[in-house]
Amino acid sequence: MIAALLPLTITYSILIKGGTVIDGTGAPAIKADIRVQGTRIIEIAPHLLPLDNEKIITATNLVVAPGFIDAHSHAGGGINDDPLAVSQITQGITTAVAGQDGGWDEPIKDYFKSLESAKPAINFAAFTGHGGIRAHILGENYKRLATADEVQKMTSIVAQDMKDGALGLSSGLEYDPGYYSNTEEIVALAKAARVNNGLYISHMRDEADKTFDAIKELESISTQAGIPAQISHIKLGSAAVWGQAKQAAAQTNLANITADVYPYTYWQSTIAALSPSRDWDDRKIWVKALADVGGPANIRLSRFTPDTTWQGKTLEEISQQTKKDPITIIQEILNRTKDGKGSQSVVVTAMLESDLETFIRAPRIMFCSDGSIGGSHPRGAGTFPRILARYVRERKTINIVEAIRKMTSLTARTFGLKERGEIKPNYIADITIFDPKTIQDHATPTDPKALSTGVKVVIVSGQITLSNGKPTGARNGKMIRKNQ
Ligand SMILES: [Zn+2]
Repeated sequence: MIAALLPLTITYSILIKGGTVIDGTGAPAIKADIRVQGTRIIEIAPHLLPLDNEKIITATNLVVAPGFIDAHSHAGGGINDDPLAVSQITQGITTAVAGQDGGWDEPIKDYFKSLESAKPAINFAAFTGHGGIRAHILGENYKRLATADEVQKMTSIVAQDMKDGALGLSSGLEYDPGYYSNTEEIVALAKAARVNNGLYISHMRDEADKTFDAIKELESISTQAGIPAQISHIKLGSAAVWGQAKQAAAQTNLANITADVYPYTYWQSTIAALSPSRDWDDRKIWVKALADVGGPANIRLSRFTPDTTWQGKTLEEISQQTKKDPITIIQEILNRTKDGKGSQSVVVTAMLESDLETFIRAPRIMFCSDGSIGGSHPRGAGTFPRILARYVRERKTINIVEAIRKMTSLTARTFGLKERGEIKPNYIADITIFDPKTIQDHATPTDPKALSTGVKVVIVSGQITLSNGKPTGARNGKMIRKNQ
């Protein structure tokens, strides 16, 4: 009856021995042991002796880093289907930042409650979202500017969400209904988000030909509202702006502007995102849209509920199969899914790797997946290992210390996530341990859910959530409500 001999309250203690610690701040790697007790890191030293009953993790030849923070995540949507968040945990992600692109279905207080009730394996933080709030206040009749009274109503929702722990305000100005708002409307809402050092974060109005105009609007919102701003998943998604990443990244050197980026040259969205115009019957806009991304072979229909036999095929392949030209097919896809009749999404190769690598190197651009659980873009299961495999180990675009800083402390500091994002005494014990020689993403556009390998152990708030690369079943994720 050994149990009877144990003290009534056991403090759970873990010793991580012999690892290479990269603390997330950008400081050089050191060899050190780390002790975790309860939910916190309590000791870091060259050699720590095991305590009685201590769980020991041998980390020889492995990197011990802060748990990765996904700066732009859509994992909130699928967490009820997979509370273990296996595709995130196997990437080493311990915190997902939700509420992106202007998304908002309910007050953030309730949103946190529903995420919490899923008992997720990873932590969540969240922005409040302009687009969803706009839909809530304007209703069906949203294809217009908001009235002063409506702006006032939207602003008070933002103010309440900020009190309830939002990190700031997100927008998605390329999507309905955010598309129909003007800069003044966003400024009014962003002003309400500047309490608690809030951040304005935006999927901007344009990520192709007019990217630089869109960045100007973001800067002007930041200046007018007096709030720092972040460009979501920065990209140069059309031929007209290819090769201009240095100019775009230079904007993130301004004191108030940051960005996040995912490590793929293809994006995923609705097919409407191919063109900023809303004149979908006008064939001319599609001629240009196709040329902008290098032709119909670069557009893969990843979801199409009206006819699943089209799913997974490129527009070129569908065109050959149906003997219809690609533009007719685009219009058909839009018509067959409009007014809620069905849903569609496309994966479009539209960025240059050289531009992407410029963003990966830029000091104020952090990493995000923009991915979801069970989604059809490989970024949902591959992002963080892909950075460490392809861009650190193989292409040497960036060194490992800097890559980890951009996965951890840069995000935690920019978003105001207290006591996270660093390996430091008294910080929350969110820790990722991986093998830098073997870490690898496996997800591809045709097999987007393939799990990554090489992350050995993940600890979330002091609990071992992944062990030997496998989920342990622990579901210890916390809701990170800002300033609470
Ligand atoms: Zn987005």
